[in-house]
Amino acid sequence: MGASWQNLLRKNWGESMVTILCSACLLGVNCKYNGKASPNERVLQLGKKYNLIPVCPEQLGGLPTPRVPQEIQGMDGDAVLDGKCKVVNKEGKDVTENFIRGAHETLKIAKLFNAKLFIGKQRSPSCACGETYDGSFTGRTVKGDGVTTALLKRNGIKCMSQEEL
Ligand code: SF4
Repeated sequence: MGASWQNLLRKNWGESMVTILCSACLLGVNCKYNGKASPNERVLQLGKKYNLIPVCPEQLGGLPTPRVPQEIQGMDGDAVLDGKCKVVNKEGKDVTENFIRGAHETLKIAKLFNAKLFIGKQRSPSCACGETYDGSFTGRTVKGDGVTTALLKRNGIKCMSQEEL
């Protein structure tokens, strides 16, 4: 994707005042299901130029850390928001309500800080942008966004994954 995300920011909002919402695990926060982080150097470097706000929708939705892994069952975040499918953890527990709650809390924070862009961790059932796990817990993926990403997009916030930087 190269410099296109930078052009997007410059063209729409200028550079200096831009606030970017980020999956907290990409910034080194130990909020993943296994109690660890996935720090991403390219995302961290953005902090030199932009205001970065870390969010973990799964924690905001009331889930513990560490937690049992969860996946959207066969569809994507839009389908979850529309009540067409569920998010279930590896032990079979329905955690859909936590995911929807976490998405709305994240949206609240995005609005509070007037965030223009969300950089989400690819394939996460909450934060993915364009590709997410298929619900089989086998590593297979389907096209689609995570639940939070889907809600942010519906509210006019641009979204991309760390893999697009
Ligand atoms: S919900 Fe998002 S921020 Fe939280 S651990 Fe998963 S990918 Fe990272």
